[in-house]
Amino acid sequence: MSAARLFSPDDPHEVSASSRQAPPNGAIYRLWGPESRGGEYNSHILFVLTVAVLTWQGIMPPPAAGWIALCLAAAFLLDTHRLTRKVALRSLPGQAFLYGQLVIRAFLTVLPHYVFAFGVYICVMPLREQLNVGISSMAMLYAFYLTIRVTYLAWYTAVLLFAPDGSLPTVFSEQRANLRDRRTALRHVWWSFFLGNTGLFAKCSVQIMTIGLFEFIRRRLDIDITTTTLYVHHAGWVTAAGVTGVLIGVVLSIRGSSEVYYRAHRTLHVSRSLFDSIHAIHHRGILPTPLDSGTISPLEYFITDMARPTYMLLPDWGFVVCEVVLALFTHLPAHTSGTDSRIAGHHLAHHLYVVCNFGLLPSDDRRWGTLYEPASEDSRRAVDRASPRQPPRTAAP
Ligand SMILES: [Zn+2]
Ligand SMILES: [Zn+2]
Repeated sequence: MSAARLFSPDDPHEVSASSRQAPPNGAIYRLWGPESRGGEYNSHILFVLTVAVLTWQGIMPPPAAGWIALCLAAAFLLDTHRLTRKVALRSLPGQAFLYGQLVIRAFLTVLPHYVFAFGVYICVMPLREQLNVGISSMAMLYAFYLTIRVTYLAWYTAVLLFAPDGSLPTVFSEQRANLRDRRTALRHVWWSFFLGNTGLFAKCSVQIMTIGLFEFIRRRLDIDITTTTLYVHHAGWVTAAGVTGVLIGVVLSIRGSSEVYYRAHRTLHVSRSLFDSIHAIHHRGILPTPLDSGTISPLEYFITDMARPTYMLLPDWGFVVCEVVLALFTHLPAHTSGTDSRIAGHHLAHHLYVVCNFGLLPSDDRRWGTLYEPASEDSRRAVDRASPRQPPRTAAP
């Protein structure tokens, strides 16, 4: 795999000045295998196949599978890119080989966190069962995102149809990225709404996937702490130790999960195959709207969000509350062009310039030498020189 290039969706052959140097050791996952081009929806095809298998096995309800298929089909039809750019079946086997390596490498990075989290899970499992509210976190979280997304869809559709020039929201009035004209902007808004509804399904499912994995292992190993002498005599202490473990694990896993995010994200920009088939689609939002926040591939969500196993041990409602707070203060603002927030600016600069700010946290970019701070004249000049995005261009759809 070429390790010296970063790709941009505008011009795949364009290599920025700063990216001619190979990333430092550890900044990316080095994968083995041939590079194969194209297929912006290839990772979604694998997702749909996975959904079909889960539905066939009775694990996923048919209405959920139907909604995913419907949203993906709508996004695909609204997408004006060439069919051969959207789907590259001949490239898929080679790309799937790389996907598998990336998942395994990311998982190995946080394996100690998984081992720790499983031990804690055994201790807090009885308490979790009492505290859960009986509605899956997936359903609660997806309902939250869908409410937000339908609101933005209705608002943006109304302003793009009826608002006079000069009164459009910042994201449509200032930028030249998603708005060549109102029709293009409208198409992008509806496209990002439908496509985002599929990716977010994976994001909202991470807690039930993690707990499902732990429960599967627990049953295979036939572990039931409530039948042990220790628990029978000291249930309170075991539970207290478990709760303490959850709190410690959440704090400890911040670094591990942010490292996985940085390394996986930068790898997606360095591998031609992975960029084309997983990540390019998210970068169509050059100056993104909150609707673009969901256009991340389900596979990418799976890799980055499964890297926080202890966090998944919160009761389902607690997990949802934390995720809603994170969404309102980080994930959604980070995809709302025109906001002044420093946290949001970090990721917005990544969408605009592509070659910088791969991390969730500025500290990861500082560590690996890709931090862009608008306040710093040096870093601004470096990125402006390197960026393939000067000036921003029109994206489609
Ligand atoms: Zn990116
Ligand atoms: Zn983004």
